[in-house]
Amino acid sequence: MHATDALSEARRLMTVCNSCRYCEGLCAVFPAMEMRRTFPDGDLNYLANLCHGCGACYIDCQFAPPHEFNVNVPKVLAQVRADSYAEYAWPGMFRGLFRRNGAVLALIAAASVTIFTIAFFIAAGPGAFFSTRMGSGAFYWIMSHNTMAFLFGGVFALACAALAMAQRNFNRDAGSGPVEQGAGRPYLEATEDAARLSYLDGGGAGCYGAEGQQDNRRFFHHLTFYGFLLCFASTSVATL
Ligand code: SF4
Ligand code: SF4
Repeated sequence: MHATDALSEARRLMTVCNSCRYCEGLCAVFPAMEMRRTFPDGDLNYLANLCHGCGACYIDCQFAPPHEFNVNVPKVLAQVRADSYAEYAWPGMFRGLFRRNGAVLALIAAASVTIFTIAFFIAAGPGAFFSTRMGSGAFYWIMSHNTMAFLFGGVFALACAALAMAQRNFNRDAGSGPVEQGAGRPYLEATEDAARLSYLDGGGAGCYGAEGQQDNRRFFHHLTFYGFLLCFASTSVATL
């Protein structure tokens, strides 16, 4: 018995795939699947989060629709993955909001911009909005550097705490036994795989995309990720 219809469908698909195993070289999902005979909810959430939705196993599958087995692994794992984000969200009382995160984020963003604008208008005066200021310190005329660092540093710390707590919830559910037995080694391997995007190589043939199998997507993912990392490092050094 599974918690949702998507999890029940994911278990059915993993049982079919575990008998077939044609896709075992494509990504991290299938080798992890092959280590299991049964699929409790926590393991299905884990497998869904190993999938990056490339679609290769759908294109390759001889049991995809219109076959009666109706195997569509990317679609079902995407649904399970989206549900898992809400399931493991922290604080737990915000799970309901997480399910409607598009509308909630839009409202919070609009409210934040309004509140910040009114607060700056009151604190700095209309001149801050309708005049030009040049020279040293002009950038911080409306909001001082320390206020900015304190405010957004706090938001960053809260985001890190929420991610860490969500990871803890996920580990509990997925069963962290093998991780504990490995004394942290699986975390190192996972970090290395993520840093190298090992599983975006499509099993060696190249990352699967609309244009066929090339490594463009992997290449641009790397540029984006390491670009953000360098930006973060530069901002941190400048702040210090
Ligand atoms: S997705 Fe299809 S081809 Fe691939 S392992 Fe599953 S059943 Fe086999
Ligand atoms: S969609 Fe891609 S990443 Fe997801 S299970 Fe299929 S081959 Fe693996």
